[in-house]
Amino acid sequence: MRGFIPINWAEIGTLSFLVWVSVLPIPKLRFHRYQKSMLTIKIIPVLEDNYIYLIHDPVSKQTAAVDPAEAQPVLDVLAENGWQLTYVLNTHHHWDHTNGNLLLKQKTGCQIIAPSAEQHKIPGVDRAISDHETLALGAHTATVMAIPGHTLGHIAYYFGDDGLLFCGDTLFVMGCGRLFEGTAEQMWTSLQKLSDLPDDTLVYCTHEYSQANGLFAQRIEPDNQQLKEKMQRIKQLRKQNLPTVPSTIAEERATNPFLRVDQVSVQTSLNQLQQDPVTVFAELRKRKDTFFQ
Ligand SMILES: [Zn+2]
Repeated sequence: MRGFIPINWAEIGTLSFLVWVSVLPIPKLRFHRYQKSMLTIKIIPVLEDNYIYLIHDPVSKQTAAVDPAEAQPVLDVLAENGWQLTYVLNTHHHWDHTNGNLLLKQKTGCQIIAPSAEQHKIPGVDRAISDHETLALGAHTATVMAIPGHTLGHIAYYFGDDGLLFCGDTLFVMGCGRLFEGTAEQMWTSLQKLSDLPDDTLVYCTHEYSQANGLFAQRIEPDNQQLKEKMQRIKQLRKQNLPTVPSTIAEERATNPFLRVDQVSVQTSLNQLQQDPVTVFAELRKRKDTFFQ
């Protein structure tokens, strides 16, 4: 499916921050207009199950595209909104996250930002970026988090003041990425870093895997009530062909078995009671790799 799906709350939120405040003295009222800046996120579904995200700052007019698997759908959404592309932000080198880089750069003159450890595998890189470095989008700041495991140089872009996390193929809704390059220990450490972010952080991952992930999560924790409720919501969304992102860190901590390997319910299900977290995580990841519902 092509085209963009607006998140209503984000757009409504932007408008709702136009707040009028009246100031005395009476009888002549004076009005001051305050506008709080807020980033707008557009979700662009591409290929089988990828999402590209556009992050737009209405104040500076700067826009970033996260993990563009394709260029044309991004160019279409930019044109529909009258936006200019400032950055491409790549989380890792896989082609379904970088394939649109060069055409976007050619058509828009945007800068391509990519993880330093994978810069030679990613087309058109202008700035290689590493753990703890920051990037400005207008007055908003993204901090880079190194989260190896799926690939060795994988990074996330975390807009801390805005509560937004773009985590590529590391943390999925109720799941996590496969260990193509890293070890279970590396992935576990990376997921812990993400799990430690504030509860209300919005999680934007790059694939729509929620239904399949949820079925596996329910196999591991059949009595998890929050998981049951989340799966109901996800079924409804998918019936309408709507994205199940964003999730939140709080929801992931409550429902994602890969963040819950310290729980007795998960350990019991895996026959791994009182094992260390990395051992339990490795077993869980192995089971998911061979899980077919
Ligand atoms: Zn990947």
